[in-house]
Amino acid sequence: MEYKEEDYLQISGLQHFKFCRRQWALIHIENQWAESWRTTDGKIMHEKAHDASSKERRGDLLVTRDMPVFSRVLGISGACDVVEFRRSEAGVPLHGQEGLYQPFPVEYKRGSPRGDTSNALQLCAQAMCLEEMLCCGIPEGALYYGEPRRRETVKLTQELRQEVRDCLAEMHALYERGYTPRVKPTKACSACSLKELCLPRLLRGGSARDYVKARLEEL
Ligand code: SF4
Repeated sequence: MEYKEEDYLQISGLQHFKFCRRQWALIHIENQWAESWRTTDGKIMHEKAHDASSKERRGDLLVTRDMPVFSRVLGISGACDVVEFRRSEAGVPLHGQEGLYQPFPVEYKRGSPRGDTSNALQLCAQAMCLEEMLCCGIPEGALYYGEPRRRETVKLTQELRQEVRDCLAEMHALYERGYTPRVKPTKACSACSLKELCLPRLLRGGSARDYVKARLEEL
């Protein structure tokens, strides 16, 4: 099965979905957005990654920034912060370039690693798009973290690829129904840029005790 272009979801939504299904639905189904220092800071960092010229050559390495990618099979589209194309006999031909090149996506993130697969999911989805577009295999990519400035290689395992497929299947089903799921508030809500929008609505049906508890957890 292939998705139509009008049904494509944003690749960046995978990290929201992994953080909280409700947050993803508020942003991507209800089009709610709240700026916070986290989202603003993240945006500035992405702008830096996207600022430089769109292509750069360093010897046998070609660096492409802000490359649009999509997958008909997964029903997603977005842009890769950086794709490095390394000259390699195992690679693929590129328009206007001599030789073969192996793609290696790099995603920029503010802050330090989160300790879950949310960032890796986004990177893996970008790689799966590139594989479909360029008819190649991409065994690994990298996440670049702003604090501390560090690059971490990520193996794009079958487990990670399956998690991408499972999340996207659920996201497409929710999107089609236009349904924003209710979830249990957690400590993570205090770091959520949508808490002011979400919690009053989420807790309206709950008890006063639950509401007070959630507010205290925010502090
Ligand atoms: S406030 Fe909590 S429940 Fe609501 S969207 Fe944010 S993380 Fe999810």
